[in-house]
Amino acid sequence: MRIVFLGPPGAGKGTQAARLAQHLGIPHLSTGDLLRQAKGAGTPLGAQIAEYLDAGRLVPDAVIIQVVQERLRQPDCASGCLLDGYPRTVAQAEALDRYLRSQKMPLDGVLHLDVPQPALVDRLAARGRDDDHPDTILRRLHEYQALTQPLLAYYSDRGLLYTIDGTPPAEQVSLNIRSIVDSMRSAHKRQC
Ligand code: AMP
Repeated sequence: MRIVFLGPPGAGKGTQAARLAQHLGIPHLSTGDLLRQAKGAGTPLGAQIAEYLDAGRLVPDAVIIQVVQERLRQPDCASGCLLDGYPRTVAQAEALDRYLRSQKMPLDGVLHLDVPQPALVDRLAARGRDDDHPDTILRRLHEYQALTQPLLAYYSDRGLLYTIDGTPPAEQVSLNIRSIVDSMRSAHKRQC
C-alpha cells in the first residue's frame, strides 16, 4: 500500500506513521528524519538544509522532491511505503503524482491527523526538539497553514482524503487509523 500522512507539526504524525508502517510491514519514510540526518552529515548540502530546519521553514521543493524520489526508487519501496511529512506543498503533491503515475503505482489514501492549534503549541513546546523553540514553532505552524493545508482540498477532490481526530490518546488514534486503512484496503482490492 502507498499512504501519505498529513498533519500539522505536533499532531503525532511521526508516532502514528511509525506504528502503522510497522503494522503494515512497509517502510516508513519520514522526510523530517531524512533531512535531520542530512543536516547531521556535515556536508555543504547538510549545512544548507540546517538553515531551513533551524528557521522552521520548508526546504525548497526542488531539493526535497529529489531526495524523496531517490528514496522511493529503492527496492524496499517497490511494494509500498508510508510517506510521513511529504508532500507538504501542492508542487510536491504534483511531483509525487507524476512519479507514481510513471511507475504505475497508485496512491491508496491520505490520512490527515487533525489537532486544533492551541493543543499543538503545548505539545510542541513539551517535545523539546532542536526546532521546537517558540518562534520556530509559530513559523512552522504558519508554513503548515499557508503551504500544506491546501493539500487537504487537493486530495479531497481526488477522493483520497481521510481525516482522523488526533486529540484522543495515541492508542485510540492508532486503532482508528487501522480501521480506516482496512477500508482503504477493501477499496483497493475492489479496484484490482
Ligand atoms: P517534521 O519532522 O516532519 O516536522 O519536519 C521537520 C522539518 O523538516 C520541517 O519543519 C521542514 O523544515 C523540513 N521538512 C520536512 N518535510 C519537508 C517537506 N516535505 N518539504 C519541505 N521541508 C520539509
